[in-house]
Amino acid sequence: MKKYDVIIVGGGVAALSAAIYTARKELSTLIIAKEVGGQTAWAADIENYPGYEKIKGVELILKMKKQVENLKVVIKEGEFVKGISGKAKSFIVTSSVAKYNCQSIIIASGKMPRKLGVPGEEEFVGRGVAYCATCDAPLFRDKVVAVIGGGNSALDAASELSQYAKKVYILVRSDSLRADPAFLEAIKKDKKIEIILNAVPKKITGEQFVSELFYSDAKTKKEKSLKTDGIFIEIGYSASTDFIPTNLKRNKLNEVIIDHKTGATNVSGIFAAGDVTDCIYKQAVISAGSAATSALSVYEYLKK
Ligand code: NDP
Repeated sequence: MKKYDVIIVGGGVAALSAAIYTARKELSTLIIAKEVGGQTAWAADIENYPGYEKIKGVELILKMKKQVENLKVVIKEGEFVKGISGKAKSFIVTSSVAKYNCQSIIIASGKMPRKLGVPGEEEFVGRGVAYCATCDAPLFRDKVVAVIGGGNSALDAASELSQYAKKVYILVRSDSLRADPAFLEAIKKDKKIEIILNAVPKKITGEQFVSELFYSDAKTKKEKSLKTDGIFIEIGYSASTDFIPTNLKRNKLNEVIIDHKTGATNVSGIFAAGDVTDCIYKQAVISAGSAATSALSVYEYLKK
């Protein structure tokens, strides 16, 4: 069986950036990704990735993917990693389809949308409850939708939805938003969007599809509800680390702990990059930078 110099787990900005660096160092590189894109592909417009004043997330990803493919990196898309065994210079990565040998690993598996955990959420997934506005917004043309969350993701989703829906509510559980002020200013100018503060979601109901969202007012404790055709849950993310060996150290948030100078984890030969790590700021440009760090560290490690 072929032994790759490095296997990169993930298909987002971190994974693709790492591959650009390892391939240019002539390390045989395999990417295993459930899907190429990650969260960046879900972002409507990205305005803080240097070199582009404004670019669609999916467009940025496609450019990166093309760059990686031109470097002859093998991408196993549609496979997901189930486990990692072995040790430094002789790892076995087991995917949903096959087993692969490699000398080193870069974990760049990113994070997954967090669930709200209220009654009705699971039941109505795909029937009004959604986690990706970029994917599902066109389904809500002329409908009423609610976005839950007060960070950049929620505002991003609301702005995307406003292009289709007739009314967009943003429900924020506290009395302030975490989103960037510039973003918030733009949202406030959109007449279709209404922000409801202190709204703590309690229950989602409907028949075939979602029809109502119940919430309580955190200040008055009054139970309230609004009629809605769709509910977009945008309340942050949790690290995707299900497949990671138990001896690989993670923090309380389940993020992989790395040495930020090198991207190294506590397991020799395993490096990590991007949002799956314990980096504080989860941004595409930071993922790209940390991936370059990990990839160069892999190169140094394999030279030894
Ligand atoms: P954030 O952690 O920034 O915000 C999460 C929001 O969800 C907060 O308002 C939080 O409320 C709320 N929340 C959390 N749990 C619940 C719950 N159980 N019920 C109701 N509300 C809840 O996450 P984001 O996904 O928005 O952003 C993550 C990172 O990605 C950020 O660094 C952001 O800047 C970046 N990002 C950048 C984008 C861009 O540049 N275009 C687009 C999207 C994201 P509370 O404040 O009360 O905890």
